[in-house]
Amino acid sequence: MRQKLVAGNWKMHGSLQSNQILLAQLRESLDAKLGAQSRLEVLVCVPAPYFAQVQSILNGSSIAWGAQNVSQHKSGAYTGEISASMLQDFGCRHVLIGHSERRGMYGETDFEVAAKFQAAKMAGLIPVLCVGETLQERESGVTESVIARQIDAVLEVSGIDGFWQAVVAYEPVWAIGTGKTASPGQAQAVHAYIRQRLSQHHAGLAEQLRIVYGGSVKADNAAELFAMPDIDGGLVGGASLVSAEFVAICEAACS
Ligand code: PEP
Repeated sequence: MRQKLVAGNWKMHGSLQSNQILLAQLRESLDAKLGAQSRLEVLVCVPAPYFAQVQSILNGSSIAWGAQNVSQHKSGAYTGEISASMLQDFGCRHVLIGHSERRGMYGETDFEVAAKFQAAKMAGLIPVLCVGETLQERESGVTESVIARQIDAVLEVSGIDGFWQAVVAYEPVWAIGTGKTASPGQAQAVHAYIRQRLSQHHAGLAEQLRIVYGGSVKADNAAELFAMPDIDGGLVGGASLVSAEFVAICEAACS
């Protein structure tokens, strides 16, 4: 049975003060529930300037933390970029790769996303590979071919073995930050498609791979999404900034 994962994506939100309050509330509500045998793993992906603060506050906690982006390069003249080994230096274990805001606003191509996925793997980080179609692509009936293209780009660079321990996040672009959520049936169909596509390469790996859903997950829709057989948790943006909402989403993943 796959362990559920609820990952918060703080995006470019937070401050020393608000992070302190939010993380303290999360620790208080979740730490006791997240033992070694827990059916749930919880992760927060935070802005880079706060790595040291988050590392310190989450020291001894079962809540993991991660980054929202990583360079595909090891080091060098890449002003403003952050390497995988720098993430490692702070005890970061996970990193979002190819979030739709990075693909859409910063022009990250499938090729760059695949290179970043590989850089994360090489450094021993757990990549959370984000894939998803735009509204126009869904309405044109090309959702599966878009997802296939995004997955295949990573397969080409990292091979199927790159997906061991990795996480895939299905995030329809039209549902991110819009308040529109894919219905459980819509999301399940794409999750099953992703699993089936990877199972053509390695059935055992596909069966244990965690595929989480992202796109306006809230306390009141999480349970029905997480009840779907191929939905292994959520990637949560806006609602991860409100401790009561995020905790309720985590509780929905345990029920
Ligand atoms: C996200 O940032 O990955 C996301 C899913 O955002 P939201 O939950 O706000 O739609």
